[in-house]
Amino acid sequence: MIAGVIVPALLGVLTWTFLEYVIHRWMGHDKRFHKTPFGREHVRHHIEGDYFAPTWKKLMIAVVLTAILIVPATRLVGATAGIAYIAGLMSFYGVYELSHRREHTHAGIGPYGRWARRHHFHHHFVDGRSNHGVTTPLWDVVFGTYQKVGTIKVPPQLCMTWLRDPLTDDVRPEYADTFVLRKRASVSAASSRGASSQSTA
Ligand SMILES: [Zn+2]
Ligand SMILES: [Zn+2]
Repeated sequence: MIAGVIVPALLGVLTWTFLEYVIHRWMGHDKRFHKTPFGREHVRHHIEGDYFAPTWKKLMIAVVLTAILIVPATRLVGATAGIAYIAGLMSFYGVYELSHRREHTHAGIGPYGRWARRHHFHHHFVDGRSNHGVTTPLWDVVFGTYQKVGTIKVPPQLCMTWLRDPLTDDVRPEYADTFVLRKRASVSAASSRGASSQSTA
């Protein structure tokens, strides 16, 4: 009985990690989808750094996705396993949303929290064609888009609050082994805001 709930719930979690990769890589970064609602939101997230699509839109997607999947899932594997599968999938979608937002707003706790920030901000600031997974590198490895993280040069105007030291206006010393602030163009300080570019290819 327990296995009949836990196994489908874990499969639901695995399914979300796959959807997380597919939606981000293609809906978010393939130019053919840039004009779609998700594509627009994701491009804006990259350009502004601290922009996230409104919560009501995310909840709406969760409700619609659940409504679409619940009938075939319960018909295919029965009510208990079907509901467990959808519950695993949708709750991990919630975990993803929370993790992604906190990666931008809060410093990482523990090895996983620190890894998740390095992995995600490599995607933001080094190569937007890599490291699409937010909660796991699994599908980046499977699809060949995983990149090992080196030094991440962060554009000053997109620097996360948790990363910046208010005393020095530079990266906090504890993160300086991975993150550095990208230097503004030294010749023309006035045009420095336009010097950085975001890869959304
Ligand atoms: Zn992205
Ligand atoms: Zn992000």
